[in-house]
Order: sequence, then structure tokens, then C-alpha cells
Amino acid sequence: MSKIIQHPLPFWEERENAPIEMLVLHCSAHTPLEMIGVLSERRLSAHYIIGEDGQILQLVPEEKRAWHAGESFWRGKKMLNRYSIGIELSSLSMGQAAYPATQIKALSNLCRQIMARYGIRPQNVVAHSDVAPTRKPDPGMAFPWQKLADKGIGLWYDLTDAAKVAEDDVAVLLAQIGYDVSDLAAASYAFCRHFAPQYVQKIGDIDTLIENVYPADFALSAECLPILQACAWKYNHIK
Ligand SMILES: [Zn+2]
Repeated sequence: MSKIIQHPLPFWEERENAPIEMLVLHCSAHTPLEMIGVLSERRLSAHYIIGEDGQILQLVPEEKRAWHAGESFWRGKKMLNRYSIGIELSSLSMGQAAYPATQIKALSNLCRQIMARYGIRPQNVVAHSDVAPTRKPDPGMAFPWQKLADKGIGLWYDLTDAAKVAEDDVAVLLAQIGYDVSDLAAASYAFCRHFAPQYVQKIGDIDTLIENVYPADFALSAECLPILQACAWKYNHIK
């Protein structure tokens, strides 16, 4: 792996003994240097930024709490900056067009190392959109979750598992995976961004994307239900 460039930002705090058990993946429609400017202006941070060319910058030491996830929820835990490492991907399309292979390779190597260091479970490798579904769309519909899951980074479903699940209530199943379902349309849309992007509308306008516009009445279609069931099974049967 190419050398990680240190570019420290002062926007962090102590973890106060919270264990590191999650990886939150983000993207922004900026080059890495622009991103550092934007984060600094807003007094935000992430542990790492990865450029489209695969170059990795480290902004905050892993043992410190970076400010990247904001108000967030996953599998019973809230305010996930305490428990997570945050990685920002530079993506000028904001995850609407395929990520470059070099960038994904650098990301995969980094994720694998971090997961091994802290024993992070694949259930806890998430999108910012998974943990803040009403607010955030990143890292976007084109993020290659299945490819990463093949390498043990996050989980992907096996459709044959759907038959093992009797539950057919969408909210119950989404909650079993880890979503906050208090806004069911948002949680359903976030699920599709991650696992069923064929049901997500591709948006070219970055400002619209940043506003996380999703159909207020969005509901999972009947044909998507087996994907949801298969995911719920996987998330609860992997050690
Ligand atoms: Zn984000």
C-alpha cells in the first residue's frame, strides 16, 4: 500500500473509553485538498480521506474521536463518532458514477487493516446513509458494497436465505439489520442505496444530492422484500 500522508486537523476529542467497533464510510464531491478546506471551515473531520487516485491522507489518529457521523444510530447505539472510524472518499459524482478501482483497492486494504486491529464485525461496516438515513446520501448508489463484502468488509445478501425468514414486516426487518426506522421511508431508501440501488433514482445534481432528497412516501416494492429478508438473515447469522 502506498504511504499514508499525515495531514492533522485539530477537530477531534477523546473517545472516553468507548470501544472502536464500527467503520463509517462517506463521500464528498471534492478533491482531498478541497475536502480538508471544507472540513476545516465547518470544524469537522474524518480519520482518513482517500483520493480518486488511491492516495490516503490521515487527519485524526484512530484512537481519537473524529467528527464525521453527526447524529446517528446503528444496531442500538447512538452518536456513532464515539465508536467509529470515519473514512471519506473523494468522489466528484458523489457516488453516482463508479468509483475508480485504484481508490477501492486502497480503501479495501485500509478497511481490512482497521477491522483486524479492532476486531470490527462486518455488520458494523456501514454507509453514512445507513446511520443517518434522513440526513445523508453518502457514499452513494454506485458504492461497490458487494465487491467489498466479498473481501469480508461489510455484508452482502444471499437471496436463497430469504426463504428462511418468515417475517415480512419491512420495519421489523430493517430494524433487525440495524436501521433506525422512526422514519420508515428514509430507512427504506437508505437500505436500497446500499443493497438494491436499482430502486434508487440516479441524481446528477450535487446540490440535490447533498440535500438527501428521497421520495417522502418511499416504500419497498414487493419484489425487493426477499432482498430485505435475505439481508436480515445474514446480519443476524454472522458471528
Ligand atoms: Zn458523510
